[in-house]
Amino acid sequence: MLMHDHAHDNELSDQEARVRALETILVEKDLVDPGAIDAIIETYSEKVGPQNGAKVVARAWSDPAFAKALKADAMTTIESMGFKGRQAEHMEVLWNGGGVHNLVVCTLCSCYPWAVLGLPPVWYKSAPYRARAVSEPRAVLAEFGVELPEETRVKVWDSTAEVRYLVIPERPEGTEGWSEDDLAVLVSRESMIGTGLARSPGA
Ligand code: FE
Repeated sequence: MLMHDHAHDNELSDQEARVRALETILVEKDLVDPGAIDAIIETYSEKVGPQNGAKVVARAWSDPAFAKALKADAMTTIESMGFKGRQAEHMEVLWNGGGVHNLVVCTLCSCYPWAVLGLPPVWYKSAPYRARAVSEPRAVLAEFGVELPEETRVKVWDSTAEVRYLVIPERPEGTEGWSEDDLAVLVSRESMIGTGLARSPGA
């Protein structure tokens, strides 16, 4: 009898096992090309990522005409920078500042603006984040290390397949005259979801 009671280091979560099973069936039935799946994953994990969103934010901070266009028509303006594709339909931008801090969640699943942020982080898809971002946003923010003034209003936005959000964080002080490239380095992925702030120079 073959003993098989050791622990595996390659165990899959329920969801990963379901995805693996589904992919296997689709490939076996010749319904999808595994190379195509790999290409999509590679694109969104390596070529498309939060560096795209950071460029949008840096330009919005630097160029008032661009910021105005972004407010008027986020989709067209973001597409004009070449950022479009899957999961990018109907993007809206949310501006932090003026006593408002925006926090983005998808309470139902994991809707997320792939074209500007890449694939969503694991915590974004987790049940606790999806529930608590709505029920106790300040506690969630504190866990991410974000402490806001008492009087700041936290607005929580629920993403859907119809609308996905990009947060424009507040521009850090001490960055007057910086180039867009230098500014973009300060823009973290979390700051564009609302679970973080833009980094301060030298931080
Ligand atoms: Fe979703």
